Amino acid sequence: MHLLLRDFEMSNIKGAIGHLRTINRHRRLVRKHCFRIGLIRQGLMHDLSKYSPSEFIVGAKYFQGTRSPNNAEREAIGYSSAWLHHKGRNKHHYEYWIDYNVRGKDPDAPVLIPVEMPKKYLAEMIMDRIAASKVYCGKNYKDDDSLKYFLSGIEKAPMHPNTSKDLEFYLRMLADKGEKETFKAIRQMLKEDKKKGRA
Ligand SMILES: [Zn+2]
Ligand SMILES: [Zn+2]
Repeated sequence: MHLLLRDFEMSNIKGAIGHLRTINRHRRLVRKHCFRIGLIRQGLMHDLSKYSPSEFIVGAKYFQGTRSPNNAEREAIGYSSAWLHHKGRNKHHYEYWIDYNVRGKDPDAPVLIPVEMPKKYLAEMIMDRIAASKVYCGKNYKDDDSLKYFLSGIEKAPMHPNTSKDLEFYLRMLADKGEKETFKAIRQMLKEDKKKGRA
């Protein structure tokens, strides 16, 4: 009994350490990218909710090291409570920007309506995707990996057409011209967007 309890605690501690390392590494990479495009505050705040008990405990429990603990939780209980908590609080996920439709007279209109992401969150989403691709592909990472993932159509949730168009535009630029040029273009786009906001 004692031994069992100790084994259980050991696996939890290992999961917690592994998960913590994964989060820290991911945040460091996103922060670095965000700073390069001028998103200082967002770079510092990125994915902080992953340290909250609702996300961290689940992530530690299902930590495997080779794939997302969210998928392991989905297999175990049928959905990912950690992901639902995460996407509901983090504006850099396009899934955050899904609203209800007021159907009005048209009963066939879709119920869920994707809202266009503000540019600063679109930019953070791009930095997030690049960081995820870098970790996922390791030393085989190439500038077109994020574009390939996007074009593979794995993502099924509705994305606003403007957001989708912008995302593809910058991922294509990244694939064709590399980080330096793409980050410069995103930085410029953010500057212009800020100006528009002030006008
Ligand atoms: Zn996130
Ligand atoms: Zn992230």
